[in-house]
Amino acid sequence: MLIWQLACTIPADSAATRDWLTADELGASTEALTAIGPRMNGTPEEVEAGELVEAWFIDAGLTDARAEPFVWDCWQRGSASVSSSAGVGEALAWSPSPAGSVTGVLARVEGDVDGKLALSRSAQMNRARAFADALLGGAVGLVHVSEDVAEDGTDLIEVGHTLDGSSLPAAAVSGSVGNALTVGDEVTLTIDATVLEGHTSHNVVGRIPGTGAGRVYVVAHYDSWDPSESAFDNALGVAALRLLALQAMESEAPRREIVFLATSGEEQGLQGAQAFVEQHEDEVRASSFVMTLDVLWSGSGSFLVMADSDADRQLAMEAALAEGLEPVAAGAPSAGSDHLPFQARGLPAMWATRQPDPHYHTTHDTLEYLDMDQAAAALRSQWRVLVEVAEIPE
Ligand SMILES: [Zn+2]
Repeated sequence: MLIWQLACTIPADSAATRDWLTADELGASTEALTAIGPRMNGTPEEVEAGELVEAWFIDAGLTDARAEPFVWDCWQRGSASVSSSAGVGEALAWSPSPAGSVTGVLARVEGDVDGKLALSRSAQMNRARAFADALLGGAVGLVHVSEDVAEDGTDLIEVGHTLDGSSLPAAAVSGSVGNALTVGDEVTLTIDATVLEGHTSHNVVGRIPGTGAGRVYVVAHYDSWDPSESAFDNALGVAALRLLALQAMESEAPRREIVFLATSGEEQGLQGAQAFVEQHEDEVRASSFVMTLDVLWSGSGSFLVMADSDADRQLAMEAALAEGLEPVAAGAPSAGSDHLPFQARGLPAMWATRQPDPHYHTTHDTLEYLDMDQAAAALRSQWRVLVEVAEIPE
């Protein structure tokens, strides 16, 4: 009776909670980031994106919302080209490719490349494998031909990073530039990249205190590559991070603390996540779980659900099925995103991501390929997971 009387004293609309997990909200937040443009490390757009996310976290009412600086050596893309008897073609250097000019006889990476300039084709070999084979085979450099073409006929030149890029010049060229190159010819790869030593980037952090023990991290990177607005890698993930925070603020307090973490420097080697765990070593080691929001949805591919524990993977699979998605159980999280430094401190991780998509890391990672209704279903599946792992009362 007392409860009924109290309930009647509250105006009806203040009891209603807003639903943040909609396609409209997700589209608007994603577009707020893509409108900034590419958010490459070392550019004003990286700073602008970080400030936007910090404002989001403060406005959401997260506890101790703030930007935490970290200092690192940041690679900057300059121009790159390949020249041969056929002429000069444009190339896009991979990070952190060393600058300079290397000349060698062009040889297929599948064969003997010792002392030669290795050539790989995306249709035959992915870039990570091509780079490893060129490096181990003693090549002087690598030219990777990206053979995908967008629906409108635009070349899809794939940029990205390599695990040990500093040791071998590497660049990608379009199919048309690649087709003009002849195996056996002498070819020169010229890369004009620089390194910003002592660059300061910022992780953005906000918290919802728990009523009990335990702590869960939700992580998404706001930096990006530069050929495009980088809608699904990873404006979408940061938008999802914001909406999960807002939804959690509308809910009852979780038993476990939830830490919302937007990182920078991810694309150049998980720099922000690495800095965060080093700056919060004791806290991270005492925590319970990490979930990554990175390419949460894209234009094509399968919705891959990865988790270290079978129970967590099953939870995430059921969450995706409940949202009408067709998830694929894909084992433990692969190494390519921000959960890695947390895993290295013993935290179980979960990562759901839609891959592969040929527009990934190209000029065509744009909003037009994102179906926001489906992306919002993926977002709601992550909410279902968060409710369980952070123990949010329903
Ligand atoms: Zn990413």
